[in-house]
Amino acid sequence: MSRTTDLRTASRPAATHEIPLLVLGAGADHRAERGVSCTGELPAASDPALVRRAVRARSELGDRAFVLGHHYQRDEVIRFADVTGDSFKLARDAAARPAAEFVIFCGVHFMAESADILTAPSQRVILPDLAAGCSMADMATFSQVEECWETLEDLGIAGEVIPVTYMNSSADIKAFTGRHGGTVCTSSNARRALTWALGKGTRVLFLPDQHLGRNTAVLDLGLDLTDCVVWDPHRPGGGLEPSALRGATMILWRGHCSVHGRFTAQNVAQVRAAVPGVNVIVHPECAHDVVLAADQIGSTEKIIEVIAAAPAGSAWAVGTELNLVQRLANAHPDKTVVFLDKTVCYCSTMNRIDLPHLVWALESLASGQVVNQITVQEQIARQARAALDQMLALP
Ligand code: SF4
Repeated sequence: MSRTTDLRTASRPAATHEIPLLVLGAGADHRAERGVSCTGELPAASDPALVRRAVRARSELGDRAFVLGHHYQRDEVIRFADVTGDSFKLARDAAARPAAEFVIFCGVHFMAESADILTAPSQRVILPDLAAGCSMADMATFSQVEECWETLEDLGIAGEVIPVTYMNSSADIKAFTGRHGGTVCTSSNARRALTWALGKGTRVLFLPDQHLGRNTAVLDLGLDLTDCVVWDPHRPGGGLEPSALRGATMILWRGHCSVHGRFTAQNVAQVRAAVPGVNVIVHPECAHDVVLAADQIGSTEKIIEVIAAAPAGSAWAVGTELNLVQRLANAHPDKTVVFLDKTVCYCSTMNRIDLPHLVWALESLASGQVVNQITVQEQIARQARAALDQMLALP
């Protein structure tokens, strides 16, 4: 099958389960890919008989349960979601439903933590599979970030640094950010968060996604690439000279998304050659050269909006998670919607939430057994909440 044919196949509704992907692995940074593996295809749908059980358990729970589905979830899970969205929208949606005793979060661990922080104490947040983590969030541990901060204190510059942490981080890191007067941000409000932070301090420690930090600083705030340095938590002193830290405006944590970090500028050139007139839209978690090569950058929600508003007959290559791109292609058969590159995987940790796990969680809750509850310790929750509240208060 030619590359052109492959790409176009992705836009045809009849081929919804047929996007052929290449097997991954060659040249991968295994340390950076913890928890992520890929068979090269979207995961197979679960036994259809489970659908009946899910419907029955969901109906038994009624208004006592509220099911949240992240955009990167499988279709078989999304069909049971009461709302869909990105991580922050879902956490807010959950907080707006205080009557729901159980918030079943079909997403990954840091999202369920945020939902627990933002919902009422009486609400219980359930993650159907505790193994659904996020490799990016795992790239910044509390002890690593504390070590970085101690270095900044030793250099006498910590007082000038405002931490800004991406939503995709653990509750510990959000709490660290709240304790040090910083803010959380999402891919939609990163520009406002950085503008606020640089109005308050001289420099920013941006956690844990270096790409979102760099793309926002350079493309939205007009900083230069040389204003950014990358702190490597696996090297003494972050692998940086004190003079580099003193001279930087953006101290970027060396973390990335294992899905979005795989797209390349070459992918963009190839899709342009394969699909004449194609518009390329990519997520800001992609590397800087990929974002520069694309036509548009957009958070998950923005990508959905842009493609929905695009004229019939237009062609789009989308650089984000495969389940979402597939769903967009299915939802817009009048447009050509293709995955930016076949060698990029779906988010396998996100896809650990499948129908069997959802059915197990629903049936357990319906029978009175609370399973896989995510609870953030009170002090951590309070400090993380301060950073989340600061985000909500961003000008
Ligand atoms: S897509 Fe990337 S950032 Fe999102 S949950 Fe998966 S690994 Fe984490």
